[in-house]
Amino acid sequence: MTKTNLEFKTEVKELLDLMIHSLYSHKEIFLRELISNASDAIDRARYESLTNSGIMENDAGWKIKITADKDAGTLTVSDNGIGMTKEEVIQSLGTIAHSGTREFLAALQSKEVKDNPELIGQFGVGFYSSFMIADKVTVITRKAGVESKNGIRWESVADGTFTIEDVEKEKKGTDVVLHLKQDEKKYLDEWEIRDVIRKYSDYIEHPVVMDIEREKESDLKKGEKVKVREEETLNAGKALWLRDKSSIPENEYNEFYKHVSHDFTDPAKVIHFKAEGTSEFNALLYIPSVMPFNIYYKDYKIGPALYVKRVQIMDHCEQLIPLYLRFVKGVVDSSDLPLNVSREMLQHNRQVEIINKNITKKVFDTLAEMKKNEYEKYLTFFKEFGRVLKEGIHYDFSRKEAIADLLLFQSTQKPADTYTTLLEYIAGMKEGQEDIYYITGTSRDEVMKSPYLEAFNDKGYEVLVMLEEVDDIIMSNLHEYKGKKIKSAIKGDIKLEKTDEKSEEAKKKFSVLIELIKNQLKDEVKDVRLSGRLKDTACCLVADEEGMAPEVEKLLRQMGQTVPESKRILEINPSHPLFEAMNKLFEKDQKSVALEEYIKLLYNQALLLEGSKPKDPAAFASAITRLMVKDAERST
Ligand code: ADP
Repeated sequence: MTKTNLEFKTEVKELLDLMIHSLYSHKEIFLRELISNASDAIDRARYESLTNSGIMENDAGWKIKITADKDAGTLTVSDNGIGMTKEEVIQSLGTIAHSGTREFLAALQSKEVKDNPELIGQFGVGFYSSFMIADKVTVITRKAGVESKNGIRWESVADGTFTIEDVEKEKKGTDVVLHLKQDEKKYLDEWEIRDVIRKYSDYIEHPVVMDIEREKESDLKKGEKVKVREEETLNAGKALWLRDKSSIPENEYNEFYKHVSHDFTDPAKVIHFKAEGTSEFNALLYIPSVMPFNIYYKDYKIGPALYVKRVQIMDHCEQLIPLYLRFVKGVVDSSDLPLNVSREMLQHNRQVEIINKNITKKVFDTLAEMKKNEYEKYLTFFKEFGRVLKEGIHYDFSRKEAIADLLLFQSTQKPADTYTTLLEYIAGMKEGQEDIYYITGTSRDEVMKSPYLEAFNDKGYEVLVMLEEVDDIIMSNLHEYKGKKIKSAIKGDIKLEKTDEKSEEAKKKFSVLIELIKNQLKDEVKDVRLSGRLKDTACCLVADEEGMAPEVEKLLRQMGQTVPESKRILEINPSHPLFEAMNKLFEKDQKSVALEEYIKLLYNQALLLEGSKPKDPAAFASAITRLMVKDAERST
């Protein structure tokens, strides 16, 4: 085949542009990324060789080799791993395989990427980082198990295109050849390479080797020195999770995290343990400190890597953790599972269930401990991942209370950005208060001004402020905590006062007016009643206790679900002078046109207050204008 010229996908072009023009610090991480890819390629080959020994090609031992050629100005990273076919090369080294990439890149460009290189790292764009130090990159690769003539040569100078050509490659695996930029030649220096590898790749399980020239005593002539080149291993090379905790410095834990997670930032927490008994396994898990940009996308890879007796079986095993802990990264190495375990076999495997249970408990314990002893760190974690963790209340009935223990809330009685817990809430409940209250909405400012809070504020009751769309569903699912019912301030009938003579009297007094409103709005609302939650505002709309909050309805509709029109209840405030006046108007003229208009206005106002649009905005506006004219005429 002759050389073919192909274009990079747009997002790769944009990414390369960012890499080359915005990133100046930590350029040496390119080596970590290439070694990490080489190690993954070996893991895959090792796994496949379990069922297909042919792909070994009689190659003795897995390794990653670094070659520095000072004359040619090239640094080469070679592996004898799985290699790539032509289609795989075009796919892997021409596109970025994450949905949401375009949006993310656009967001990145508006931020200061220069100061936050870790943002880019969330992509797992490892290979492309080569272009920070090389002006040309050549990849020569051949898939393990195919004939040597089926090699592929890929090359690019990062000008928006790359070339592909068939070549002969004797050994399986991949060579990445970096033609270093003039001012990046230091990466050809042995000590520089050693340094970078020790810093970033020491944990890599496979040997990373380099030919080193040494002076040696000659075997032939005593006393004479000769120069010899010998292969030397540059990394420690033992699986980190099998090592003794006390022997592992923090930076090694952190570098390994970056290898498994493709994240550039250090993790928030390391969980390293060995389980013995009904199930034997080693786990090295991490709680990240920043949210992966694609955690809500379908192609987000869930679960730690699964190893069986030190052989990687899959890089993400979702059966190992519950979905709502999908931010947890790392490695689980089991001694009990068979090496030929398949995805299907993992579905209802008892060992896997035990591991899952065990890991979940460890993560919960770690989070609880963080919350107790490292509150600031926990708060940062919660702001990033609280929303994901909360999903567990919906999906994991058995751990509802344990998850609720971990939740943090803003509240009406605390300054913005100060958080409380359900336990603290209960401890602070006022005399006579029986339930836990929360209010949902889209911003704190809006919620704090909500008329739905009037009676709560009046009595000094704390109300939890919840601003995420899922919150109403989560809190309805939680239902109660430590024997206390959890109620929404915007749903159901709220009775903060005991029924007394005054309220009975009001009921009687407004019963006819209420009937009239009910009649007129019978197509719009389910019921009209006196409110226990209003103090100053005239009226509001509420859903049944079992009904959906307006933002949940909106969310479901956005997700394309058909949500049946659910009628709300109109609550009116008996202590508002408006109703006194309307009562009088009614006594004077039962068929009053003004009264009919007021009722329409009332309903539309209530719609506005819950964040919805008035039924007929034009009619609403002209009704208000009419009132304004009347009022203006009266006062002139
Ligand atoms: P990531 O490693 O996060 O997927 P990269 O850009 O580093 O992102 O690599 C893209 C893909 O290219 C890898 O997923 C892998 O399929 C392929 N690849 C890269 N390097 C190698 C290699 N040395 N051997 C085999 N495949 C490789």
